[in-house]
Amino acid sequence: MKFIPVLLLLALVACGQQKDKKQEGFPLKKTEAEWKKQLTPEQYHVLREKGTETAFTGKYWDNHEAGIYYCAACNQELFGSETKFESGTGWPSFYQPVREGVVAVGTDTSYGMVRDEVVCSQCGGHLGHVFDDGPKPTGLRYCLNSVSLKFEKKPAKK
Ligand SMILES: [Zn+2]
Repeated sequence: MKFIPVLLLLALVACGQQKDKKQEGFPLKKTEAEWKKQLTPEQYHVLREKGTETAFTGKYWDNHEAGIYYCAACNQELFGSETKFESGTGWPSFYQPVREGVVAVGTDTSYGMVRDEVVCSQCGGHLGHVFDDGPKPTGLRYCLNSVSLKFEKKPAKK
């Protein structure tokens, strides 16, 4: 019966190494333990484990207020409300990030699909996916998780 804990341990070590590798290349580096401490379980699942919130359940898919969406993990400014559009998917959708370089796109082959994964360029946190069926002018649809974002209302103009 001794081999079971050993196997478990090996699996844990292997997973740990994989995660460390993925963190390379992002300016903000934290250990998984640090992220776990900082983020809620839901945020950790989406941002660090590439989870997806259930459609129409997030805070922001139906948010129409003017303001800025920040990374929930590191506060980098990511998307503005003026590029948000009604995608009908139940996830907050944008056609363009607030400026170039704030998000990075990689290939995600999970669930038997090939999708373009969108991550925060500063902390590497998983935000969602980008598809090429969005509106003009970019034709892109950044389909994001509310959990990965933090919205701040624009102060009303006087
Ligand atoms: Zn971030």
